[in-house]
Amino acid sequence: MLEFTEQLLEGDFILPDNTTSHYTARRRVDPITGFSCRITGKRPVDPATNPKGRPDISQQVEATRGCPFCGGNVLKMTPRFPPHIHPDGRFIKGESILFPNLMPYGRYSAVTIFSTQHHIPLGDFTAGEYEDALGNCLDYVHTIQTLDPLSSYQAITQNILPSSGGALLHPHIQVNIDREPMSYHQLLTQCEGEKSQENHSFLLALARHEEESDRALMTVGEWTFFMAFAPLAAAEVQVVHASKRTFNQLNVDDVAAFSKGVTAIHRFWKDMGKNAANMVLFSTVEGKHPLFGRLMMRAPYRAWYRTDRSAYEVTALEAAGDLIPELLAESFRKSYRPD
Ligand SMILES: [Zn+2]
Repeated sequence: MLEFTEQLLEGDFILPDNTTSHYTARRRVDPITGFSCRITGKRPVDPATNPKGRPDISQQVEATRGCPFCGGNVLKMTPRFPPHIHPDGRFIKGESILFPNLMPYGRYSAVTIFSTQHHIPLGDFTAGEYEDALGNCLDYVHTIQTLDPLSSYQAITQNILPSSGGALLHPHIQVNIDREPMSYHQLLTQCEGEKSQENHSFLLALARHEEESDRALMTVGEWTFFMAFAPLAAAEVQVVHASKRTFNQLNVDDVAAFSKGVTAIHRFWKDMGKNAANMVLFSTVEGKHPLFGRLMMRAPYRAWYRTDRSAYEVTALEAAGDLIPELLAESFRKSYRPD
């Protein structure tokens, strides 16, 4: 049931000094989605970002300070939940505050801030900050699951800095809960359903195999972190929980262990010169698959750059835009004609 397909794609070219060089590229097939990827692995330095070093973004941090998530603003400028979801309008855990997403992408769409601190550099998020923020997300998930158990597909996602898709620089996490899965979640559920044998889960078999492979990163508590065999995004890390299949089953130790793992990966990427990253953690009400997450690093954030591919696109394979096609077409028709 576990398949690790790799082809070596070989050829020759002639270098400027007239010597012939043989090369080998790899094509791998992702065991979960069936998507293929190419890995060259030959580039010694990335010419686009050399010399290395994290960009200084202090000017952007200062220029955007006092945003809607900052201290003094957040309780005045963010929306509140109706009382049947939370009597106080917002979920609070430690320094973390969770409120409705003003730009919702689903039936249940929430934003969690770690704190009112405007900037936390990648690598400086503490495990404790993650524990509170994730704990807050899980409280929200639990509430929605009680109110609307048919909204089965739960995704917790993170964009760190605008070059990973975040609209605001201020550190935050999103929660989206719907009856319909995002594309990756659908593929994940389908894979687990079709490739599991009797009581042997495909994802657990994958995690056990990868834990012993040369792609292993660490096991923290019951979470196994490993590099994806066929990365569909930069430096893709996958994580599987060894026994739990729903967010509702997670206890404080699970959340603490996950937080320790994620922040260790952040420190690794920070030392690679990166400042941006994405994360997703998938669950379903019915426990259709073991808890599964993906993390990936993103191109470093520089002044005023925001990518058009956020965690939804990159981690959940779900295109998510904020421009309505019909409005764009109307605006074109009003003012533009072919010459
Ligand atoms: Zn802020």
